[in-house]
Amino acid sequence: PRIFALANSQFSTAAEPSWRHGNSLRVPNLIGGRFVDSESSDSIDVLNPATQEVVSQVPLTTNDEFKSAVSAAKQAFSSWRNTPITARQRIMFKLQDLIRKNMDKLALNITTEQGKTLKDAQGDVFRGLEVVEHACGMATLQMGEYVSNVSSGIDTYSIREPLGVCSGICPFNFPAMIPLWMFPVAVTCGNTFVLKPSEKDPGASMILAELAVEAGLPNGVLNIVHGTNDIVNAICDDDDIKAVSFVGSNTAGMHIYGRASARGKRVQSNMGAKNHGVVLHDANVDATLNALVAAGFGAAGQRCMALSTVVFVGDSKSEEKLVERAKALKVNIGTDPEADLGPVISKQAKERICKLVQSGINSGAKVLLDGRAIKVPGYEQGNFVGPTILSDVTADMECYKEEIFGPVLICMKADSLEEAINIVNRNKYGNGAALFTTSGVAARKFQTEIEAGQVGINVPIPVPLPFFSFTGSKASFAGDLNFYGKAGVQFFTQIKTVTQQWKDLPSSAGVSLAMPTSQ
Ligand code: NAD
Repeated sequence: PRIFALANSQFSTAAEPSWRHGNSLRVPNLIGGRFVDSESSDSIDVLNPATQEVVSQVPLTTNDEFKSAVSAAKQAFSSWRNTPITARQRIMFKLQDLIRKNMDKLALNITTEQGKTLKDAQGDVFRGLEVVEHACGMATLQMGEYVSNVSSGIDTYSIREPLGVCSGICPFNFPAMIPLWMFPVAVTCGNTFVLKPSEKDPGASMILAELAVEAGLPNGVLNIVHGTNDIVNAICDDDDIKAVSFVGSNTAGMHIYGRASARGKRVQSNMGAKNHGVVLHDANVDATLNALVAAGFGAAGQRCMALSTVVFVGDSKSEEKLVERAKALKVNIGTDPEADLGPVISKQAKERICKLVQSGINSGAKVLLDGRAIKVPGYEQGNFVGPTILSDVTADMECYKEEIFGPVLICMKADSLEEAINIVNRNKYGNGAALFTTSGVAARKFQTEIEAGQVGINVPIPVPLPFFSFTGSKASFAGDLNFYGKAGVQFFTQIKTVTQQWKDLPSSAGVSLAMPTSQ
């Protein structure tokens, strides 16, 4: 196989990752510190969703290459786990600096492969960067505990040790943030890692890997493999992999959760969503409508925390105002500085979105704004869907039960806060929910009774910063240790307790076969 030398540290600001300088569209694997083209002749085209141009080609990493990646990670683990934590942190310090310096390059790559606007792509990188910053304080986060004199002359302490080789499987919608939820925490805890980026937009992961190598991550600590179901199954089945982090759809997530945990692995699986925004009559109207439009249509609705459903409590006049604001949004290629939203990821995604909208209409929903037929001049081939608003939606409709994952806002009505809470809680997903109100009493009731991982009070997309954890309840999460924050460190470490006795023991103590108890 061809070996791709790492480019020198001067990255250009162009979207092209450095391996492209070898004139190859093929995205390499990263195995044992080397960017190597796969021997597989099968690959998947990565298409610019605004133009359908082939940006790059993702190989289906072969089984032998996958085994080499796991073996490189396993080999690197023995010295990496013994590398002082301060040295591991220092690499994260360097990595956060390099990510900042390469922000534009990462963002342009995301916009080219994923479609979101450049500004939104920068937010994608920035929210991941914050996890790297958090990992810089790992020595404190990974601290164990100590109790002196648990019995006379005996002390017990606990150590949080790394697990070994860990793995991450990523979705397409946050090409930088989600890989950065995974490997920085894992490797700074002392694990080594095998990352499988989304086959739809692997570029940001590759740039981040280059930066991590440049930051000083030793060979084999981070490895990258590519593909779809087969490689995911290989990850689930490999006995040398101890933990799997997954973010994506429920179909894949529950499959991975079942298959990997059946092999004794730890799994954290963040999955689909149907996030509700409940609007009370006392809410600040303008601020709320702005928030709803931003959270419903930002990233073309392809955020797991997109507010895709609004429940108006005792009010229907706001719907018209919502339509006015949504109409004013500019749909265009993400590199246009004026664009509010770009295309959706694929033709199939657009088709699915349009079908779900139609099914809503067929079952009695009113379409207040229809963006399905939008044409963007100059980008007629793009997978664009304009902002779409459905009202009079009820809980039995397909468009409500399914996650649409597009720029479609669904409006429902409730007579009271209780009824609104019941609607939210009856939905199978429990990722995020937001309440808009000026009543503290209502806010407190909502945060207590609502079944969702992330709750926003007058905050439409309450994604927690890395000192908390990104959670999820009901069908939105499987596992028990969430991403980043304290739970993330717990996920990537196991506890060892040491009980030690240092005292002069009288030789006359004799032998006792009774279970030792505290003396
Ligand atoms: P996806 O499930 O299609 O793909 C995610 C990953 O799983 C990819 O790497 C893909 O190759 C792999 N995969 C897909 N189908 C598989 C299968 N049958 N068997 C094995 N592996 C499979 O998800 P996506 O479309 O890339 O991402 C969108 C989804 O991710 C949405 O449902 C969204 O809500 C969810 N998401 C959730 C969160 C969260 O934190 N809860 C965050 C971002 C995205």
